[in-house]
Amino acid sequence: MGCTHDCDTCSTSCGTNSPQSFTVELNKLSTVKKVIGVVSGKGGVGKSTVTSMLAVAMNRKGFKTAILDADITGPSIPKAFGLKERAKGSEEGILPVVTSTGIEVMSVNLLLENETDPVVWRGPVISGTVKQFWSEVIWNDVDYMFVDMPPGTGDVALTVFQSIPLDGIIIVTSPQELVSMIVEKAVKMANMMNISILGIVENMSYFKCPDCGKNHSIFGDSHIEDIAKKFDTKVLAKIPIDPQFAKCEDNGTIEEYTSDCMNEAVTFLTR
Ligand code: ADP
Repeated sequence: MGCTHDCDTCSTSCGTNSPQSFTVELNKLSTVKKVIGVVSGKGGVGKSTVTSMLAVAMNRKGFKTAILDADITGPSIPKAFGLKERAKGSEEGILPVVTSTGIEVMSVNLLLENETDPVVWRGPVISGTVKQFWSEVIWNDVDYMFVDMPPGTGDVALTVFQSIPLDGIIIVTSPQELVSMIVEKAVKMANMMNISILGIVENMSYFKCPDCGKNHSIFGDSHIEDIAKKFDTKVLAKIPIDPQFAKCEDNGTIEEYTSDCMNEAVTFLTR
């Protein structure tokens, strides 16, 4: 009843329509081999920090690396890498901005006139922007692209899951009681979208005291290994609280931060 015979705009399961495909085409001039989404159940756990560190570690291993900043209303990638220039366009598409060590970046902050301008857009416009970052940016021969996903399981997160062909996701958490529930939500969303979970990164895992040398669990004891086991996945990294991170991100020098905490994750992702 009321059938318009246009299955592309209809979500009714009438049994005769074909499943909708939301995937958008990559720009003709782009090559992207692997796409990894970095997600978190809530804001502030360090999703953007982990995205940046993964990209830096991957790039150091000699892989051509890119970051697609899909966190449109809270873009923090350009600042962490000290990117000041605006992205330029050509007839063929938009060119990503390249960091000092060669990581390609696209973020809404590279398109705004002032980086402090807020993005006061409704969901569909935000989702459309993310799609354009995939279809209209010319990504130059990328081995690994990390997508800094919008936090949570809302409108934009859903669009990213549906429009960009992710090879898998990494879930970022911090050691708190509600982590299990948050991880479960992300796992269920990924399962609903048929996307594999590559592993979990626990950020702000502990603080190593510079005086006594002991590790202190600031946010409580970690249960991340049990949680990973419960969801049949793997802990890819445990990152300590380090004021140096925040400092490097504020100064735009994240590429100068030296740490081996992402080595295991990079080895696993490139195996
Ligand atoms: P999200 O993307 O989840 O909102 P961010 O990556 O922007 O979170 O991190 C939030 C703030 O916490 C930033 O100021 C960042 O510098 C800081 N931060 C993140 N991880 C750490 C860490 N392990 N140690 C110290 N500061 C951190």
